[in-house]
Amino acid sequence: MRMKTGFRKGAGFFAVMMLAAILFPAGHAFAAERLLDTGDKLVVVIDPGHGGDNLGTQENGHLEKAMTLTTAQAMYDRLSLYDGVEVYMTRTGDESLSLKERAEFAESVGADFLFSVHYNASENHELFGSEVWVSVSPPFNGYGYQFGRELLEDFKEYGLFIRGVKSRLGDQGNYYGIIREAEALKIPAVIIEHCHVDEARDEGYCDSQEDLKTFGRMDADAVAKYFGLKSSALGIDASGAQLAEADLSSVAPLSDRDSTAPEICQISQEETDGEGSRSAVTVTAADYDTCLLYYSYSLDGGSTYSQREPWPECDALTGKYPDTFTLNLDIPAGTGAELIVRAYNKYDLYTESNVLTITPQEDEQALEAMAPVEPESAESGGPEDSSVKILELERLSEREQQQPEESNEQAVSVRFRDFLLVCLALAVFLFLILLTSQVITAVRGKKRRRR
Ligand SMILES: [Zn+2]
Repeated sequence: MRMKTGFRKGAGFFAVMMLAAILFPAGHAFAAERLLDTGDKLVVVIDPGHGGDNLGTQENGHLEKAMTLTTAQAMYDRLSLYDGVEVYMTRTGDESLSLKERAEFAESVGADFLFSVHYNASENHELFGSEVWVSVSPPFNGYGYQFGRELLEDFKEYGLFIRGVKSRLGDQGNYYGIIREAEALKIPAVIIEHCHVDEARDEGYCDSQEDLKTFGRMDADAVAKYFGLKSSALGIDASGAQLAEADLSSVAPLSDRDSTAPEICQISQEETDGEGSRSAVTVTAADYDTCLLYYSYSLDGGSTYSQREPWPECDALTGKYPDTFTLNLDIPAGTGAELIVRAYNKYDLYTESNVLTITPQEDEQALEAMAPVEPESAESGGPEDSSVKILELERLSEREQQQPEESNEQAVSVRFRDFLLVCLALAVFLFLILLTSQVITAVRGKKRRRR
């Protein structure tokens, strides 16, 4: 009897918790409060990345240590025009400074925040876009996240592709040294990777001194919004600026690390609409941890790949992306393609789709005359030099145009919805057991009393 009571209490408690979990999901973001409180005096340290022997990236004739100094100086000049803020730079010349020295300098001036200014490049020159790196641990990642959102929203409006607010774990905690060293001294720090100097789509944003200064001024204005500053000199009042919604329990997933590639990537051919050589392919992919950022495709069975393209309508800041889109390819009759699509997530990990053999059906004679596609014949024919090219990319499939809300949310919410349904079923089941056991106990009690 005792055990039974224990079980019933346990089951009841479990059922209540389940219902609570369903009604009030954890990690819900509330009001957009400013997480970091700096008190009366605000001290900001700007850190131009690299310097001296440490050149930074040198792709395409760019020299990162000089670029960061130009941007940081413009950021300093602009931010100094705001009221009630003391601004410092870790270096103003071409000096070598260790990451520890930079953090210690910030501590020596009583910094409330350190902003490290950088430009990016990738090994295979295939990445483009802007990102902000923040700490892996709360509350610092919350501070970084709110600033990163503020800055990247502005960069997005400026036309840049947004790779998101991200964090990276290393052996000693934070992977990035400047964030680790600053945090050891209790100073929040972020790394601003403005854009990629070695990719055509980003180069236009950083190939002149004026471009670099524009970045610095945008950085300063984002900092002003982040701290809610005013400038009588500039006639700007950012004191009412609303920051992105975040609380410390929900911010970690938003800037979360993702060490696994996208879970799903599949392609299938759509019904052709009779427009000659045009082939429409449905691409379906999902990443359960972060979001999808890019795709690329191979027409030769994986020997060569196209450049990366933005995943249509992806939003790295909210984590939303459509899980399906239509890729239109122009594959002339008499040729064939062994199509593979790669879907890349926020951390540049990719998953390859199935291989789809495309043979244009319109011209029966050409089809008959066509030689079978052999893997080695594809070696010379990359996406660039073959006659095959993308016609256009339909932004959304028809289904998504009809139901944009649902499709945007779908990839992210499908698993969660399934989980909730299972929880609900479990709760109902437990409730029924509880009810039955109580009825049985009541009936037995009555019988006992009658006896
Ligand atoms: Zn750098």
